[in-house]
Amino acid sequence: MSTPESTAPPILLSIAGFDPGCGAGTAADLKTFAAHGCYGIAAITALTVQNTQAVESVTNTPAATLRAQLDVLARDCNIAAVKIGMLGNRGNAMAVGEFLDATKYAHVVLDPVMKSSTGTELLDAGGIKYLATELLKRVSILTPNIAEAELLTGIAIKDLAAMEAAARKLVEMGARAVVVKGGHMDRAVDVLFDGTEILTLGSDRIKTTNTHGTGCTFASALAAQLAQGRSVREAATLAKAYVTKAIEKSYPIGKGRVPLDHFYRLRIEAPARGVHEVPQHGMHPAAEPAAH
Ligand code: PLP
Repeated sequence: MSTPESTAPPILLSIAGFDPGCGAGTAADLKTFAAHGCYGIAAITALTVQNTQAVESVTNTPAATLRAQLDVLARDCNIAAVKIGMLGNRGNAMAVGEFLDATKYAHVVLDPVMKSSTGTELLDAGGIKYLATELLKRVSILTPNIAEAELLTGIAIKDLAAMEAAARKLVEMGARAVVVKGGHMDRAVDVLFDGTEILTLGSDRIKTTNTHGTGCTFASALAAQLAQGRSVREAATLAKAYVTKAIEKSYPIGKGRVPLDHFYRLRIEAPARGVHEVPQHGMHPAAEPAAH
């Protein structure tokens, strides 16, 4: 007999900032987890005031509160994978480092978020230093975009060869595996280095590049795939395919950048005229005996 526990989907933890427009951060992570059949839980590192147009302000969660959120969740749930995004400051980055040391989860994806695409600082200088020297050693895979990879390695990235060099350098710095995301280059090619081999992940050209929350979504999809037992290579390939499709299917929500459609797989074509949903017991509503 199945118990609630044996039928529960993998539980994934998002450690990220909250975007009230729900295109990036915590909300993007939870939508991505749900779209992959996983149950998401979340510790909030910062409360941002933003919409699709701009980040207006950021209030970082006090480190003690973040620590308490992480502890309360870890005590209660069997966490299959962790996705880390915006951390805000050094105190919160250190709280997460200590949490990872204490818990030793098998799958931890770190998206080293430093700035919003509109230029607002999402991690302070001390936090960047801690991430580069300590936090990246504690995770399974790091997913910087070009700007983040440049900042972490000091390598100027203009082409694929430089993306590879940066990926290798990040492994030398202590990361176990790295995906350098080339979404901001001419072609949306990502470079995966798992410490042994380099793999380039290509994709078709996408209709719009003015998207919001792409990095959060990729890292969360990667965590979901790893939690479900896929190899790093397979997980990265599938996560990229998911993000590409979610961008392709995106639709405007506000006046600014477009959030992805995390649930494009649920949007099915309208049924043909005259076809009704058949209830579970197999009878057409019209054929059901009238209630007396
Ligand atoms: N806001 C929050 C809370 C985030 O976590 C992130 C990215 O991780 C962003 C904003 C940045 O999103 P974007 O790169 O689409 O500006």
